[in-house]
This record gives sequence, C-alpha cells and structure tokens, in this order.
Amino acid sequence: MDYSKFTDLKRENKDLINLNPLQTAGKLTKEAQKVLIEFGDGYSVCDFCDGVLDDIEKPPVKTFTREILPKFLNCDVVRITNGAREGMFIIMHSLTNPKDTILVDENAHYSCLVAAERCRINVVKVPNSKCPIDAIDVANYEPLIKKHKPKLILLTYPEGNYGNLPDAKKLGAIAKKYNVPYALNCAYSIGRMPVNMKELGADFVVASGHKSMSASGPVGLIGMNKKYENTVLAKSKDYPNKVIECLGCTSRGATIATLMASFPEVEKRVKNWDQELKKAQWFCSEVEKLGFVLIGQKPHKHDLMFFRTDVLYEISKKHKKRGYFLYKELKKRGIIGIKPGHTKSFKLSTFGISRKDLVRVVKAFSEIIEENRKLLA
Ligand SMILES: *Cc1c(COP(=O)(O)O)cnc(C)c1O
Repeated sequence: MDYSKFTDLKRENKDLINLNPLQTAGKLTKEAQKVLIEFGDGYSVCDFCDGVLDDIEKPPVKTFTREILPKFLNCDVVRITNGAREGMFIIMHSLTNPKDTILVDENAHYSCLVAAERCRINVVKVPNSKCPIDAIDVANYEPLIKKHKPKLILLTYPEGNYGNLPDAKKLGAIAKKYNVPYALNCAYSIGRMPVNMKELGADFVVASGHKSMSASGPVGLIGMNKKYENTVLAKSKDYPNKVIECLGCTSRGATIATLMASFPEVEKRVKNWDQELKKAQWFCSEVEKLGFVLIGQKPHKHDLMFFRTDVLYEISKKHKKRGYFLYKELKKRGIIGIKPGHTKSFKLSTFGISRKDLVRVVKAFSEIIEENRKLLA
C-alpha cells in the first residue's frame, strides 16, 4: 500500500481569498502558527501539570483562564472546552435531568439540539416571528417561559445562517425576571466582536476557538457566573481535582496553545469591531449594486451575510457547467468559500479580509455576471 496520500498531505486553496464564514476568523495568527509546531506533540501542555489543566503555569494556562479570559468576557469563571458544542452540552447536562425542558431559539445550531438529545431533555423552540428576515424577537421567550418553566434558556448570538444579532440584553432582563438560567451561544461572536456577559445579563457564554478566535481546534471555552460554578463544574467524588463535566481535562496540547498565542491579536481585533462591521456593510452595499439581496437584519450587524443571488441562478440554468460555474469562475480568480453548486443563495463572511481583497471579490462577481450576460436574455 502506498501511504503517500496520507503522509504528503497538502491543503490546496490555503492561500486564496476565503469567504467561508466557518473559516474567516479561525485563521491562525503568525504567532499561533509557530506555537502550533512547538506544541504539536500530544499532551504537550502537560509537562508541568499537577492534575488540573486550568492551573498549569508553564505554559501560562492558569493566568489565561483564571484572569485574562474572565476579564475579556466580563464573567466570573472560565473553563477551556473542546468547542462551543461541548460548552453547550456541559451547561445543559449539569443543569437538567432527563425529560426536563429547555428553550432554544429557532435558529439555533444543530449541535445545540444534538447536545440536548444527548442529555435526553425536551427542547421547545422559540419561534422567530420574522424568520428569516430579521433576528429573533426575544419577547417570544416570555410566554414560553411561563408555560414550560424551562431549566435553561438558550440564545444564539448571532445565529450562523443569516448572521442576525438578537437583542441579548433584553432577554437578559427577561431571564432575570423569571430567575431562569440564561446561556448565550457566542460561537460567531466571541473573538470577533465585543461580548460582555454581565452587561448582557447572561449566566453563561460559550465560544469556539477554531471558529472565531484564530485557534487550531477543536477548542472553545465556557464562561459563567459564580453562582453556577459549583453545579456546572462539580468535581468527581473519587478524583477531587477533576471536573466531571470536562471529564477531567479538555484541551491537552496544541489547541489551547494556539488559543493563547492568538489571543493578543484577537483582543486587538475585537476592539476594532466597528471597522470590521463598516467593511461588511460596505461590501454588502457593493454587491447589492450587482443585484444581490441581503436576507437578514438591515443594516447588518455582523460579518456573516446571506445573499439571494437571482442573477447568478439565472446564469446557472443556461451555463454549460450549470451550478458549478460560479465556484469555478471564482476559483480562477483566486477566491473560494462559496459552496460548489450554490448559485441561488449563499452565505459568506468578510471577517479579516482586507478592503483591497474585498474589492477583488466584488470585481470578480461583477465580471462573472458581465461575461455571462448573454445567457440572461
Ligand atoms: C459553529 C457553531 C457551533 C459549533 O462550534 P464548535 O466550536 O465547532 O462546536 C455552534 N453553534 C453555532 C451558532 C455555530 O455557529
């Protein structure tokens, strides 16, 4: 057996302009690239571990999780997880018993629902009255809280289909009124934009390192109010050091190392969110001139945008490469990240892409439409 296809792994397209929302804010910083090699070996952060990941001082995981991250998120306690979904599972699993009910916004990520299934709890979806055009109206939670007395309410901030940013603070006030634990899924926000847990009135936040914090995943974090620390982070009776919900330790090597190495840059870019958002809004207005229609909140409040693109769909009907023409034409111009075959509508993200490169993207779309204009007749 020739194993070269496993040993000589190459990632084609690595250096092209990538518009895939999953990937734009997960690119490693230069510092993290170096650290990835340095800490690539298995269990590489465990050289000086006394049994608690979050207390390791060399490398400085302790300072990172016990001081820097709680301050960054304005919460009391932070723990490293293997991703946003693991964080949601930990919260659900520790706060509920099988057959309990939780509320989840209709636009929640599938992993959130799978996490609930693994906990054997009931999920009531809070309907999005204006779906999919606008963010969920969080007032819709209130009657359902009264009706179901949920053990937890969860809001996706923002959701990953349209990038709509709901009014998390308003839901914070509702959660407080009914004294119900409130978790924010910040997979698409923490590391991109400011998230202040206490100001939003949330009890929990979860983040995804590989999605929005320039880390090599899987890695994430969970932030919480002190009030829930003992419940959610309960220790094993046989191993009093070990958090049960984390199965003792979560990240055990390169993943936490890259999360730390990228952090200074992440902290800086979050402060620059206004500019990042302006860039997204500018890009939106440019592609709207080409006939794209933004589906979602307007003005948009996030770099993830979903467009209906009738003009490209019309071309695809007559193009000899059918739906794949767009992918091929973009790739020819050094651009990837729109799913092959998609022309009717698609989502993209402008996060971290320079204006100069975005000008190239707009120009590419414009050229592709012009070159195929005859097919629109
Ligand atoms: C991407 C995403 C997730 C999953 O994040 P992981 O860190 O990979 O578990 C969960 N929720 C939302 C809203 C997402 O966009």
